Amino acid sequence: MKGQPEGIASYIPFAMDVTYEPVLIAGAGPIGLACAISAQRRGLDPLVIDAGALANSIARYPAGMVFFTTSERLEIGGHPFVSAGPKATREEALKYYRGVARAEGLRVWTYTKLVSAARRTDRIECEVHVRLGSTRLAGARLVLATGYFDHPNRLGLPGEALPHVSHYFDDPHLGYGQDVVVIGGKNSAAEAALQLFRAGARVTLVYRGREFPPTVKYWLRPDLENRIKAGEIAARLGAQVTDITPCEVGIVRADGAAERLPADRVYALTGYHTDFELFRRIGIAVDEVSGKPRINPGSLETNVPGVHVAGSLTAGRKLSEIFIENGRFDGEKIFGDAASRTRAERVYAGLRREVGE
Ligand SMILES: Cc1cc2nc3c(=O)[nH]c(=O)nc-3n(C[C@H](O)[C@H](O)[C@H](O)COP(=O)(O)OP(=O)(O)OC[C@H]3O[C@@H](n4cnc5c(N)ncnc54)[C@H](O)[C@@H]3O)c2cc1C
Repeated sequence: MKGQPEGIASYIPFAMDVTYEPVLIAGAGPIGLACAISAQRRGLDPLVIDAGALANSIARYPAGMVFFTTSERLEIGGHPFVSAGPKATREEALKYYRGVARAEGLRVWTYTKLVSAARRTDRIECEVHVRLGSTRLAGARLVLATGYFDHPNRLGLPGEALPHVSHYFDDPHLGYGQDVVVIGGKNSAAEAALQLFRAGARVTLVYRGREFPPTVKYWLRPDLENRIKAGEIAARLGAQVTDITPCEVGIVRADGAAERLPADRVYALTGYHTDFELFRRIGIAVDEVSGKPRINPGSLETNVPGVHVAGSLTAGRKLSEIFIENGRFDGEKIFGDAASRTRAERVYAGLRREVGE
C-alpha cells in the first residue's frame, strides 16, 4: 500500500466504513502542519484532520492581531515567512500556513473532528465527526496536535451561552457605539478592552483580582491603567460576575454591593485549558500535578503505543510553556531519525536559553 510505514507488514482488511491511513495527524495548527511535513518528507503520506479551518486557532485570533514572535520563528518546514514588518499579523500568518500546506501538497481534511481513538493490536482506530455525520479512520500512528484553544474556561454562570457572549475576542470594530463588558484581567482581556475603547465602544472591564497580574505585557499595563484613571475605560476590580442577561451583566463588587452593568456584547476572556477528556478517552496517562501527558521526550510517544502528542497539547496546565516557536520542531522528534531529533533538540535548547528558561 502506498505510504505504508515500515513495521506494518500487512494491511488488515477493515469494515467498509473504516479508511486506513499510515499516519493520522489531528490538528492543522502550525505544529500539526509541521508534523505532517516531517512525516511526508519520510514518505509517510500523512492525513491531517482539523475540527475547524486550517490553522483554526489563528483564524480565531482577533482581526489584525500582531504576533509577539518575529516571523522567522513561526516558520515551519524551512519555508521562509516574509511579513511586512518584523512581526506578522494574524492575516499574514494565515496566508503563510495556507501557502505552506499548498506548497507541501499536504492532505488536510478541515471540519473533521477527532472524537476518540482506541489502540487495536495492529492499528489505532479513530472515531471522527465530519460536517454531516461521523466516520472511522484507522492509522498505524496518530499524532495529536489539537492545542487548547477550543476549550475556554467557562464561567459556569446563567446566561453564558447567550449569543452576544463570546469566549473569543473577534473584532473591535463590532463594538462601535455599544456597551461592552470584558471579563478577565490578563493579556487578552487587557488588549481587548483597549482595542474596543479605541474602536468606539463603552467598555467596562470586570476582573476578580484586585489588581492586574504581573504577567500583563509591559506595553499594555500603563496604557490600560491610564485609560482607567482617565475614566475612558470603566473597571471593576475585585468583582465577581453573577449572571448575564441579554442586556446586562450582574456583578458583586469588591465592596460587596451588587451592580448591573449594561452590556450589548460580552467577552469572557478567562483563558483556555487542555482537553483532558480527550486524553482520558484515548487512555493517555497524564501527570497529575502539571497535567502534562506522560511521553517519551525523544519521540513524544505516549503510553498508548503509536499515539504521539505535539505542540501546545504537550503543555498540560502550563499553557505558556509551549508555543509555536518552540513547538515547531516536534515533527522531527516524532518522525525524524536520531540526527534530526538531535538537531531539533539543539535548536530548542538554544531557544530556551534565549528566553531564559
Ligand atoms: C491571541 C494569541 C496570540 C498568540 N501569539 C503567539 C505568538 O506571537 N507566538 C507564538 O509562538 N505563539 C503565540 N500564541 C500561541 C499559539 O497560538 C499557540 O502556541 C499555537 O497555536 C499552538 O500551535 P498548535 O499547532 O500546537 O495548536 P493550535 O494552533 O491551537 O492548533 C490546534 C488545531 O487543532 C484543531 N483541533 C482541536 N481539537 C481537535 C479535534 N478533536 N480534532 C481535530 N482537530 C482539532 C483546532 O481546530 C486547531 O486548528 C498566541 C495565542 C493567542 C491566543
